[in-house]
Amino acid sequence: MIKVGKKAKLGLYLHIPFCVQKCCYCDFHSAKADKGARTAYMRALCHHLKAAAPDAKGMTVDTVYFGGGTPTLLDATDFKAIFDTVKGHFALEEDAEITAECNPVTNADGLMEGLHATGVNRLSIGLQSANDAELRLLGRPHGFAEFLATYEAARRGGFDNVSVDLMFGIPDQTVESFGKTLDTVIGLSPEHISAYGLRIEEGTPFYGMRKSLALPDEDAESAMAELAAERLRKAGYEHYEISNYAKAGRRSRHNMRYWLGDDYLGFGPAAHSYFRGTRFETAPDTAAYIDTVERGDFSALRQNAVRIEGKEQMDEYVMLRMRLFDGIELADFERRFGTTFEAQYGSVEALQRGGFLTKDGDRLAFTEQGMRVSNAILCDWLDFGH
Ligand code: SF4
Repeated sequence: MIKVGKKAKLGLYLHIPFCVQKCCYCDFHSAKADKGARTAYMRALCHHLKAAAPDAKGMTVDTVYFGGGTPTLLDATDFKAIFDTVKGHFALEEDAEITAECNPVTNADGLMEGLHATGVNRLSIGLQSANDAELRLLGRPHGFAEFLATYEAARRGGFDNVSVDLMFGIPDQTVESFGKTLDTVIGLSPEHISAYGLRIEEGTPFYGMRKSLALPDEDAESAMAELAAERLRKAGYEHYEISNYAKAGRRSRHNMRYWLGDDYLGFGPAAHSYFRGTRFETAPDTAAYIDTVERGDFSALRQNAVRIEGKEQMDEYVMLRMRLFDGIELADFERRFGTTFEAQYGSVEALQRGGFLTKDGDRLAFTEQGMRVSNAILCDWLDFGH
């Protein structure tokens, strides 16, 4: 690793498209794979990283995120091979945040120590619920006991920055059972907690079953979102993004770059990138990805490339930054776009009076109440003047 001065920063997202089984709600690109398939994929991933590295010349990498899928289906040796490729070909900062997503079912002996020794310094564990019946309903391949064993192994293995993913709006879930999950996780004191509402996506097993699922109604779901905000704030977590909570200084640095519109390059099938003003993505097909990399046809991996500029850039800026409770700095908006926020999106006075927005000096942000209806407000803004 190298010490660097002030250079443009870059994040790397590495997609690991393997899972032990498919959860009922999941529309991420992932599937079962044997060791041979995983090795072939890793080889392609490393090759792709090397080929893309010259594009990042002059930039330093300050976040790396192993997402999936289930990155912890790889073993520590696999992580080391990928990590060595990153270190060997990109200017990785000394204090870069290196996150790996982890499914509690993948907790082989020594995995955590191995990951930590490799350089992974943040673990994001998918728990979803502390209630085993809810986990079974979701089709998760683990119970709470397996999660706890993984969480403790991570702490023993040296991880002092752990995030836990939770879900609310699960079939048959009550506000009370979600409250118990929250209390259980708060009791473990992870540095970061994400709490997402379940969405029924087309193409998932839940979509086919949607008419028979006993989903909590809208009121119960919004009571769960409120409960998360209230209990986590009381427990010392900062609610910094619509679905994310962190102890002081423990925001996800990698995810922050998505919301701030900073550069990142994605590797692997279904990975998205935003690089030097252009968004592009890789097709969600692992076999085609390996094949394309082996042919050396790297430009074919940049699909649906769109240059984000003008009004689209302005709208993205608003939509992404307003997910953060930091909101928008109005002077920064004017500096970037040469116009005022209100000229583009209308007056915010009524929303302020209604308690949906706060204006603290130059900073415009949603309140907790506003964040819960932020989709509707953002739609109104984006329609303004049309
Ligand atoms: S573990 Fe994650 S990526 Fe894999 S199927 Fe379940 S939700 Fe999807």
